[in-house]
Amino acid sequence: MTSHNDDYSLLAPGPVNLHPEVRKALALPMIHHRTPEFDKILKRVLTNIKSVFQTQEDVFLLTATGSGGMEALLVNILSPGDKIIAIVSGKFGERWAEMAKVYGAQVTIIDVPWGETVKVSDVEELLKKNPDTRAVLCQACETSTAVAHPIEQLGALIKNYPETLFLVDAITALGAYPLPMDAWNIDGLVAGSQKAFMLPTGMAFISFSQKAWKIIDKATCPRFYYDIRREKKANSGGETYYSSNVALIRALDVVLNMIATQGLEQLFHEIHRRAEFTRRFGQMLGFTLFAKSPSDSVTALRVPAHLDGQKIRLHLEQVHNITIMGGQDQLKGKVIRVGHMGYIRDAEMLRLIDCLGYTLRHFDPDSITLEHISNISMEAKNWLEQNP
Ligand SMILES: *Cc1c(COP(=O)(O)O)cnc(C)c1O
Repeated sequence: MTSHNDDYSLLAPGPVNLHPEVRKALALPMIHHRTPEFDKILKRVLTNIKSVFQTQEDVFLLTATGSGGMEALLVNILSPGDKIIAIVSGKFGERWAEMAKVYGAQVTIIDVPWGETVKVSDVEELLKKNPDTRAVLCQACETSTAVAHPIEQLGALIKNYPETLFLVDAITALGAYPLPMDAWNIDGLVAGSQKAFMLPTGMAFISFSQKAWKIIDKATCPRFYYDIRREKKANSGGETYYSSNVALIRALDVVLNMIATQGLEQLFHEIHRRAEFTRRFGQMLGFTLFAKSPSDSVTALRVPAHLDGQKIRLHLEQVHNITIMGGQDQLKGKVIRVGHMGYIRDAEMLRLIDCLGYTLRHFDPDSITLEHISNISMEAKNWLEQNP
């Protein structure tokens, strides 16, 4: 199996390579969650995670995938019939709009062409006509297209609408690049364990602003598992309401300690550097950038028109032990997506560029010479040394 080899690289936009210290934490013997030993860890995690959200508000740990966290943001602020503006610029925007519909909201979709960012003026126009809108939904990074949306500007707009909350899916953004919840007027924020938080899949982290808390108590949408009021009460007593996800919370403790030690700035710098590297050398190999305003979390490279991105992806995995992702839906076969989050060493990035070169040659020997690949490889190595 590919993953049992030492040289296996998981360069997807989540799940991601795990840091050796995280793997160690995941291998520890199980302990019960209602114990002083775990209570200490939970307390530390609930405090430290706020610094990644850059918020004074409480952050909640849900045992759910990222989508569960998206649902939790919605069900706690919605009442049936509420007006919702959903910015849909790819797969995950579609999912959130669908969820809001399922819970009985009147959803107006702002359809953003894949690869582009939302125009703040489009949101403003809709809000002016509908100042009673309950919430605006947006991905910080739409992982399916690798686009980063203008969250700061949207937050500055929406804060002027007292009835409207700004909910942000930051599952591939929070912890990857700056997204200060309080400073940017975000009212509901969700992050995911297997993406920027560098853990296995299985947890979502969410937080609400004071503006949102005023709505939470009035909202009438049915909710049980995700009723955040239960969790808030339990957390204030030093516990989680349901069984705590001991294994992932212990691993999260390790990640948060690493982030605290190196600093958020340094973490963002490392991810930005990988993104720069991939954009630069991906283009040198003959790919073009798909996103107009590319996110640092993930790069979408458009493959040359006569080649199939799905085949490139598969070849890279089967022959070179590197997993990246292909395109979804309308982008299937047209792009490959490389994730920059998680534990990634320079050698892996270099290997990715080399192996992408060999893979291009495998499918089209005329597209690139071995000499060209080796020149790009040299240049890539130099770039990494000159840009620590
Ligand atoms: C991965 C992802 C999700 C979904 O997360 P799951 O953990 O698969 O439920 C939602 N939104 C974005 C932007 C994502 O990248």
